Amino acid sequence: MKAKKHFGQNFLNDEGIISLIVSNIVNVYDHDSQVIEIGPGRCAITLPLLDELGSLDVIEIDHSLYPRLRDLQSKKPGLTLHEQDVLNFDFAKLAEEKNSTLQVCGNLPYNISTPILFKLYEYSDLLSHCHFMLQKEVVDRITATPGGKNYGRLSVMLQTRFEAEKLFEIPPEAFDPAPKVQSAVIRLTPYSTPKYAIGDEAFFSKVVQLAFGQRRKTLANALKPLLNQSIKDKLGDYLSQRAEQLEIAQFVDLANTLKMP
Ligand code: SAM
Repeated sequence: MKAKKHFGQNFLNDEGIISLIVSNIVNVYDHDSQVIEIGPGRCAITLPLLDELGSLDVIEIDHSLYPRLRDLQSKKPGLTLHEQDVLNFDFAKLAEEKNSTLQVCGNLPYNISTPILFKLYEYSDLLSHCHFMLQKEVVDRITATPGGKNYGRLSVMLQTRFEAEKLFEIPPEAFDPAPKVQSAVIRLTPYSTPKYAIGDEAFFSKVVQLAFGQRRKTLANALKPLLNQSIKDKLGDYLSQRAEQLEIAQFVDLANTLKMP
């Protein structure tokens, strides 16, 4: 069966890399948690994970993969298949049904990896350690610190809720077909208590989006729609800086100050 580009299908076929991914997931497995894999595909990670854990939920969109997955489900009762688009999947419902946190993992379809990450961001309080294979460039953006070109909206938003750790890189030859880019595996661990006191989450997100929307401009320019003279006086030095210069705590302070009556 041919891999489908529109579903971001690059199947892992390197046994060493597969074991490395599985052992990283299993090593931090929290027994009160349910592991859920996004995009099992041809079951490269699914089978060894299921053998290690005994129970695994998987979400797959591609109908042509269902016969094999259904067959596997009938032989391995610990496997639960969700025949669905992950972007419509109700993680809160699953967490409630299982009465547990969710440990999400997957070799993500690269074409929709950012929407998946932002979706999981919304569910961060239901998650425990998550492991994703992504384009290396995306992992570098998530883990970036201020001052460089990789630091942006993805870094700030995800790092407000997760500790982000790049685990290892994977070359294109480990996949079939080989992608044109390098890949890497990241571990995202949600903070058990909030690390930042964000007053209004939706407003914070808007500020970060506006700030990086014009990242070469000073914040005085990028945030113009939100500013008036009295707010400018309160924001002091922030406005002469560019978004990429601000630490996350400073973004939080900036948004909270902007929101003050
Ligand atoms: N886990 C397998 C592996 O490592 O070989 C396959 C990984 S492949 C990069 C991505 C998988 O995600 C494919 O099985 C693809 O069909 C599935 N997928 C793509 N878009 C999806 C979506 N919106 N919801 C659920 N699964 C999706």
